[in-house]
Amino acid sequence: MKLFRTGLNTGLLALMLAWPAAFAQDGVQVGQMSPLRKIVPAGTLEPQAAAQYAQTLSKAKQQNALAAENDPQLQRLRAIAKRIIPFALPWNARAKDWKWEVNLLGSKQVNAYCMPGGKIAFYTGILTTLRMTDDEIAMVMGHEIAHALREHGAERAGKATIANIFVKGAEIFAAAKGYDPNVAGQLAGGAANMTMLKFSRDDETEADIVGLDIAARAGYDPRAGIVLWQKMGMVNKNAPPQWLSTHPSGSSRIEEIRRHLPEVMPLYAKAKSAQLSALPPYQPNVKGISPVTYP
Ligand SMILES: [Zn+2]
Repeated sequence: MKLFRTGLNTGLLALMLAWPAAFAQDGVQVGQMSPLRKIVPAGTLEPQAAAQYAQTLSKAKQQNALAAENDPQLQRLRAIAKRIIPFALPWNARAKDWKWEVNLLGSKQVNAYCMPGGKIAFYTGILTTLRMTDDEIAMVMGHEIAHALREHGAERAGKATIANIFVKGAEIFAAAKGYDPNVAGQLAGGAANMTMLKFSRDDETEADIVGLDIAARAGYDPRAGIVLWQKMGMVNKNAPPQWLSTHPSGSSRIEEIRRHLPEVMPLYAKAKSAQLSALPPYQPNVKGISPVTYP
């Protein structure tokens, strides 16, 4: 019996080694990370990001706009991050060595980010303007962390490097042909920018999906992502918040989240030790937005 069990385990192990993907079926599935990110290695961006983050914090402190350690909103953000980060680590081998930080900056801007290396900042404006619940904060935080995990910053830097080479190439080509190199350079630059815009929309979708997965495993309701974007749409009518300028909104984004609910709702139910069918609807805390049911 013992022998048999050992044999079975060895067989299982061999199977797992042969088809690791077959054993990682729960949660969302995304493709390989962009090879473009390797042009600017993550190891070079992380210290740069850390220095920039430190600079932002010290500037905020000078202006009395850095939340103190005992600030309840900062403590709330850090508690959410503490739950989310363990589920972020499997997405990037470097992440376990990151010196994760969470800070709150006093600003009316509706904004939040996570820099390469796990440096997270929220602006008070996003918390107050959107009257964010913990679940909604977790969606934004998961999304921002996902950008860092998937090394979208390095990818963007890599694309910018390539774009520069194309612009230079076009200028040289134009000069050789006797055209005005400035005009040709601008045209090539424009084309490169459009490609970058399209790529970064892909990154946005990826960050949404990976963020949903991470936050759901940490026990935050993925349906909050739908309400979050509805709230963004409501404030957008008056003044476009900064986060929206880098995060194109719209119903397509909500549809995308809805499409991925079947992958992430089971993770959320599991984290809550609840039956999927027994989960109550997600209740928005503002008027004009309907509760979100699943399925
Ligand atoms: Zn984003």
